[in-house]
Parts: sequence; C-alpha cells; structure tokens
Amino acid sequence: MARRRQIYEGKAKILYEGPEPGTLVQHFKDDATAFNAKKKGVIAGKGVINNRISEYLMVRLSEIGIPTHFVRRLNMREQLVREVEIIPVEVVVRNVVAGSLAKRLGMNEGTPLPRSIVEYYYKSDALNDPMITEEHITAFGWATPQDLDDIMSMALRVNDFLSGLFLGVGIRLVDFKLEFGRLWEDDQMRIVLADEISPDSCRLWDMKTNEKMDKDRFRRDLGNVEEAYQEVARRLGILPESGPTDIKGPAVMQ
Ligand code: UDP
Repeated sequence: MARRRQIYEGKAKILYEGPEPGTLVQHFKDDATAFNAKKKGVIAGKGVINNRISEYLMVRLSEIGIPTHFVRRLNMREQLVREVEIIPVEVVVRNVVAGSLAKRLGMNEGTPLPRSIVEYYYKSDALNDPMITEEHITAFGWATPQDLDDIMSMALRVNDFLSGLFLGVGIRLVDFKLEFGRLWEDDQMRIVLADEISPDSCRLWDMKTNEKMDKDRFRRDLGNVEEAYQEVARRLGILPESGPTDIKGPAVMQ
C-alpha cells in the first residue's frame, strides 16, 4: 500500500492527506507534552481514548447544530475530518478558576467564576501562545469582528452543552480550549469547530471528590493518567467493557 502523505505532525496528532480532496486523516498519538513541550511523555492508550472521546463530543455537538470538521471515525486512532484553514487563535472558556488564570491573577484553583469567561491566545509555540484580545485578532486580520461573533457564540454554546453533558456523568467542566477553522463551500466561507475536544484540552474534575481527570495528572505528575482518561470515556458510555458491542449510552450519575 502506498504511504499516505503526511501534511503535519503536531505534539499529540498527525495529519495525513485524506482519501478525497478536502479531507484529512487525523491520527491521535499517545505522546503527551506540557509547558510548551518542555515536558514530554507517553500516556499508553491515550490516542485511542481521545479519538473516541473527541468523536463522541463532536457528534453530540453537531446534533445541536454546531458545525464541526468531524466526518467519521476510521479506526482506533484515526478520524476523517474536513480540511479547514485553522484560525491561529486558541479559544479558552472557563467556568472555574484553574491553571494559568489562577497563576496570573493569584487566585485559588477551584473558585467558581460568577460567569463563564472566554479568553483568546495566539497560536504560536515560538511565542508560548501569548494571551491576546479581540483587538489584536481583528487588527492583525486573523478574524473579522463578524467571525469573532460567530466564534464567541459557538464557544458559549459548546460550553453550555458540554457543561450539562459532563454534569450528567458526575464531572465538572472547569475549562477547555477550542480551535476553529474556515471551510469554503462554493465561494462561501463557514467557520467550524476543528482540532479535538478531549481530556488533553479540557479540565475535568470529579463532581464529588474534585479529583482531576485530565492532562493536569500528567502536567503535575499525579499518576494514573491513563486510568483517568479511561474513566472519562467509561462515564460517557463509550469505553467498551467486553468488546465493541458493549458500548452503552452515558451512565447518568445521581
Ligand atoms: N489548553 C490546551 N492547549 C493549550 C493551552 C491550554 O488545550 O495550548 C487547555 C488546558 O488543557 C485547559 C484550558 O485550555 O483546559 C486552559 O488552560 P490554561 O490557560 O489554564 O493553561 P495551562 O496552564 O493549562 O497551560
């Protein structure tokens, strides 16, 4: 079989040319990085779980009318996605103080926010993803004010929907990062949700114990990283316990 052409290799994923024009294959690796790749490691089975979790969340979001790049899962580690032009802005939505917000403003992690906060970061490893405002985004032409309206309203809808979905399985959605891309169809441009949504890009805390179930277990050397990712998948009802026919819906927690 001919080798597929690799388009891009990132820290946790590889993008290959897809089977049809305008498509890509997104391959999820087990590699994990933190602190702008200063810390590196491997989380066994992470790629398989993130592929599943991201598929599940993207499909649920498309069902409520959020356009996404996701087409279908191809195998354990790969999914077919629409090729988009990634907007170089990371959109972070926060419900609870954690991570860089806690550090920057000297606040305690775990403090609930009075309302959800949306932040923007410029996607640049060389610059360490600096925080930016809408002013920078529009002044430098990364997105127009209309694009930003669409992005902001999608990000807030994603937050409302995913907060409820995770709440239903006993998990608090503390914060998460989204990426958006431009999709052209007959000269018409649409902004769609791209990249992935997984425990690599979200902070997920157990509702009862506040135990971390996300990449902070790797960042902070808390151990049991694979187990935490698996538990998120299990609660969402997408981890087959005795084979693929065993997949159930979400296990609702009281
Ligand atoms: N995040 C991400 N990729 C990044 C930066 C942040 O997926 O390059 C996610 C992170 O996992 C968390 C949220 O965005 O869920 C907010 O991250 P924060 O700004 O607190 O940065 P951190 O201190 O985690 O790098």
